[in-house]
Amino acid sequence: MHPKTLAVLSVGIAAFGTVAGGLLVLFKPKWEDRYLKLSISFGAGFMLAAAALAMIPASLTLTNRAPLFFLAGYLTIHFFEHTIAPHFHFGEETHREVMVNRFISYSSIFGLAIHTLFDGISIGSGFLISPSLGVLIFGAVVLHKLPEGFTISSIMLASGRSHKAAIGASGILALSTILGALLITFFKNSVNLSLPFSAGVTFYIAATDLVPIINESNKGLRNSFAFFTGILAFYLSDLLLENYLG
Ligand SMILES: [Zn+2]
Ligand SMILES: [Zn+2]
Repeated sequence: MHPKTLAVLSVGIAAFGTVAGGLLVLFKPKWEDRYLKLSISFGAGFMLAAAALAMIPASLTLTNRAPLFFLAGYLTIHFFEHTIAPHFHFGEETHREVMVNRFISYSSIFGLAIHTLFDGISIGSGFLISPSLGVLIFGAVVLHKLPEGFTISSIMLASGRSHKAAIGASGILALSTILGALLITFFKNSVNLSLPFSAGVTFYIAATDLVPIINESNKGLRNSFAFFTGILAFYLSDLLLENYLG
């Protein structure tokens, strides 16, 4: 497959993943929580490994200011998800009492839209370096897209909004993912900055947004196993893709 087709497909699937996650909340079957936690654990492992083993090393070859941009990426997500938004966490929103305040749900959408913008920028930046890096970052992004859509959709429902509004909110996140990918396509020269920045974003989502969900679960062992499996899965994907895509 042509690398450009692969890139467009990756961004499209990632964006669709958010909407699929949003829909999941509306048709909430009994099995969803356990599997959602397992998929979050696996995704967190894969993302952490992607940041540490692929994105950071590639960034260091682009610029010696990579550590600074990495930190900036980490702090940016913290700022938008947890400083501007007074109540935000990944996973199902069950704190209805705080969701009475509409500002809280709007600020969560805004914070997550900044995060998803960088999901798109991350995938695009990866493809600008090499097809294999692009696919690996796509893997890291797509694995947390379901929980992401799930999160925003459950925030909307907890704040008393309609099903339509819940889908709309996940749609906004899908669009902002696509917008991020388009942005880096137009500003290709910024990849020196955007790749280390994206590494910081990815690290934040994995270690600060997702790992706490694994830790607070009472099914600790099973989720930890999925977390380490995610790391191993990244390692194997990396080996495979290096051989096939370069
Ligand atoms: Zn909450
Ligand atoms: Zn995301």
